[in-house]
Amino acid sequence: MKTCRICRRPVAPRAENPAFPLCSERCRMVDLGRWMVGDYVVSSPLPDGQEPLPRRDDDDDPDARG
Ligand SMILES: [Zn+2]
Repeated sequence: MKTCRICRRPVAPRAENPAFPLCSERCRMVDLGRWMVGDYVVSSPLPDGQEPLPRRDDDDDPDARG
């Protein structure tokens, strides 16, 4: 028997359960909310290293003084 991944209760078959594969509409909403906040681990590669900040050398460069 399939169980709800939100509350672990038995899930009714799809034919009689519009919230399938969750047990109820409420759990379906919870499941959806988890996706929204990124509670599920998404295996997307993160960029390696840090992006360098753009330098601002307007007229603060000591070498340009003189
Ligand atoms: Zn449930």
